[in-house]
Amino acid sequence: MTELRLDWGTTYHVTVLDLGLACCGVEVMAALEGRGNGVDELAALGVTPVHGAPEQAHVLIVSGTVTDVMLPAVLATYAELPEPRYVLSVGACSNTGGPYWDSYCVTKGIDQVLPVHVAIPGCPPRPEALLEGLVALHKLVTA
Ligand code: SF4
Repeated sequence: MTELRLDWGTTYHVTVLDLGLACCGVEVMAALEGRGNGVDELAALGVTPVHGAPEQAHVLIVSGTVTDVMLPAVLATYAELPEPRYVLSVGACSNTGGPYWDSYCVTKGIDQVLPVHVAIPGCPPRPEALLEGLVALHKLVTA
């Protein structure tokens, strides 16, 4: 068993919390909740969204522009996730600052402050990319 492996009871039932901070967050919400946008595939993978309850989530999805003002809230949310916990960075803004890479008030990549396990490119990424990212995360934690 590796350090990253989910425990036996949660390997095939992954709870995710979407921290939607801008447009990418809307796309993730649509993918997690909307019909015909991959939700059936996500449910088949055992992916269950939780809302407003970080203590119930093992995966934090950071999607959208991380402003410096919002960064403390992102860190506080991550701190509430139980171990083992994983971070999925969704979209150019979360990955690098995206179109706002030179803004004085935007964090240039959430990986500077959190351990990102999978980063999904795009502006915004398609729902299928989120699905692929979750599959990649699953492979990572079960390797
Ligand atoms: S990467 Fe593009 S779509 Fe996503 S939050 Fe940034 S500007 Fe919006």
